[in-house]
Amino acid sequence: MQPFVFNALPGRVIFGSGTLSQVGDEIRGLGCSRALVLSTPQQQTQAQRLAAQLGDLAVGVYTNATMHTPTDVTFHALQFFREAEADCVVALGGGSTIGLAKAIALNTDVPQIVIPTTYAGSEATPIIGQTENGIKTTQKTLKVLPEVIVYDVDLTLGLPAEMSVTSGLNAIAHAVEALYAKDANPLISMLAEQGIAAIARALPRIIKNPEDREARSDALYGAWACGVCLGAVGMSIHHKLCHTLGGTFNLPHAQTHTAVLPHAAAYNLDAAPAAMARIAAALGVDNAPRGLFDLAKSLGVPTSLAELGLKEADLAKATDIACASPYWNPRAIEPKAIGELLANAWAGNRP
Ligand code: NAD
Repeated sequence: MQPFVFNALPGRVIFGSGTLSQVGDEIRGLGCSRALVLSTPQQQTQAQRLAAQLGDLAVGVYTNATMHTPTDVTFHALQFFREAEADCVVALGGGSTIGLAKAIALNTDVPQIVIPTTYAGSEATPIIGQTENGIKTTQKTLKVLPEVIVYDVDLTLGLPAEMSVTSGLNAIAHAVEALYAKDANPLISMLAEQGIAAIARALPRIIKNPEDREARSDALYGAWACGVCLGAVGMSIHHKLCHTLGGTFNLPHAQTHTAVLPHAAAYNLDAAPAAMARIAAALGVDNAPRGLFDLAKSLGVPTSLAELGLKEADLAKATDIACASPYWNPRAIEPKAIGELLANAWAGNRP
């Protein structure tokens, strides 16, 4: 066994079906009584229904959560939060809504109850990414780690099939980078393998039948496992590229992860052979980068950055930004090779 350091994170996780009914008890359990419910505009109805269910425990609903956590939206939400005299936030939605809850917690230190409806994994991390003037920056602080996560598989049955796949691959990306992280440790690596396997086996079933409860439950479990990985160990080139493409070019988060991941894995293939073997085994294939690409392709989601609207002329700028302040990576960051990685992801070439 290699030497390692493991930092456990605090947090309470409730996982099941129909668990939304427990949110009121969780608010009281935190010693709170005035929750602000958060959502995106698209999930407004669900958020309002939750507020009605909470009765006097909900003092307002703020429905303008936006992808990549723009700081101007946070500013507006904070005003709303203060005017409502709320003492906690309840986020119902994907990573965008949870990102807003984290931004409010960062500024006010109030507790968060988060109810994830995608597989992005933000709920399990002490990480916040925020976008200001077209640049997305991340920071890690326990201030933003949600106190309570309520996973209710019922809420994921309506997640559109394509979003389910790309969000599932977003989760897998966390586990892939956890396996070759500088601070990898045996517990998180085990969870990473489980997370990859659970999601990879669930997604084809979800595409066939989006209301397959067993598959949805497997995918949500996998999302938790992969989110814990992201929260516990460092990110590398893959996440750096996706943060750059999302923050500067406003590309959609989960779809960008899907298109970049096989190429980021290919970049690190020879530098992290043990991690690649574990990723391949979890996917049930011989070659990890190709297995990741083939999984996305077989499920019919876009596998190129071109399809997401990135212009070929922007590749050089993306390369420069990603290489200017890189995260640690098992293979040294070589700007020319990063440019090639992005060109392959842009074209959607099989690695
Ligand atoms: P999202 O939260 O933006 O959701 C995408 C769309 O799907 C939204 O319109 C949302 O309302 C809708 N939606 C969500 N769940 C649904 C459901 N069950 N049924 C129908 N519609 C649903 O997308 P995302 O990929 O979950 O989150 C992306 C954001 O999360 C990015 O800003 C990213 O940076 C952040 N993120 C942060 C971390 C972290 O640890 N800090 C981790 C992962 C992602």
